[in-house]
Amino acid sequence: VIPPSFDYIRCHTVDEALAALARHGGDAKILAGGHSLVPVLKMRLNDPAVLVDLGGVSELVGVEDRGAELYVGAMTTYQDAIASALVQAYCPVLAQAAETVGDPQVRHRGTIGGGLAHADPAGDLGAVAVALRCDMVIAGPAGERRVSADDFFVDYFETEVEEDELLVGLVVPKPQALAGAWYEKFNRAAHMWSIVGVCAAVERAEGRVVSARVALTNMASTPVRATATERALVGLDASNVSAATELADRGTNPTSDANAQADYRRHLARVLTHRAVVKAMQGPLESTAGEPW
Ligand SMILES: Cc1cc2nc3c(=O)[nH]c(=O)nc-3n(C[C@H](O)[C@H](O)[C@H](O)COP(=O)(O)OP(=O)(O)OC[C@H]3O[C@@H](n4cnc5c(N)ncnc54)[C@H](O)[C@@H]3O)c2cc1C
Repeated sequence: VIPPSFDYIRCHTVDEALAALARHGGDAKILAGGHSLVPVLKMRLNDPAVLVDLGGVSELVGVEDRGAELYVGAMTTYQDAIASALVQAYCPVLAQAAETVGDPQVRHRGTIGGGLAHADPAGDLGAVAVALRCDMVIAGPAGERRVSADDFFVDYFETEVEEDELLVGLVVPKPQALAGAWYEKFNRAAHMWSIVGVCAAVERAEGRVVSARVALTNMASTPVRATATERALVGLDASNVSAATELADRGTNPTSDANAQADYRRHLARVLTHRAVVKAMQGPLESTAGEPW
């Protein structure tokens, strides 16, 4: 329970953080809210020589309206996102999913960027980012690059962020007219990680699905899309989505562990997808593109 010793660098700008990463490379670890990294250090699952603390980098904090998109800084806490009027107006499902993360202490210290960069398959916001067609903004020695959430997650605890880079923000497209989204999570105790989670984002016209994105938490080593369900939903109305949502576990690869067997996770994926799709289709009908839901 005592972490190995390490040097500590507190940064105040992204450039300072990048310079520290350039100096220390693979020996350094970024410290954000510390709610995943500190337990990892205490369990001695990692032994970095240097921690590069982003806690003083104010340019990474906050939610901005950028026209057709929202920009969420990587050091924005879950709680800040939940309380953001912009998130509430344009992307309430992000707040809804963030509210399911851990307990109040975790939500006040843990960050959106830390959760995404940590890439735990049970982490809740990865599926939301995938379902909403978000992009991740990654800063490195050559400047910034944007990577779609579909491509960002590589494997268990592995993302596109290289050792000399950091995640600086999440770009969330504003919804189209008649779009709705919902996150459905199953866990055994209120503050726990998802055993399975589902984010459904559905666009409709005249009550029928025009397009759908359904992304699953903890059904593979990364957030994974239920593409068979997405295809089968097109053209349906809310009263007859069951046949489509029954396909939700196709192409997934859930594990069996102390929380659930793989078969049970498959069952949960189908049930939660049905609930999430039906809720997503109950989004407000009176809305025009780019206006708040
Ligand atoms: C009791 C408890 C319950 C929890 N329950 C949930 C839950 O229900 N759902 C859920 O999704 N999560 C849950 N979490 C995890 C929580 O969301 C973490 O805070 C989050 O995963 C990591 O965010 P952090 O800011 O604390 O990052 P840190 O712990 O500081 O960092 C995590 C990892 O990401 C890297 N990193 C951090 N920021 C960046 C960045 N900007 N660029 C590149 N790399 C970066 C770090 O180097 C480290 O490897 C729980 C945690 C605890 C302790």
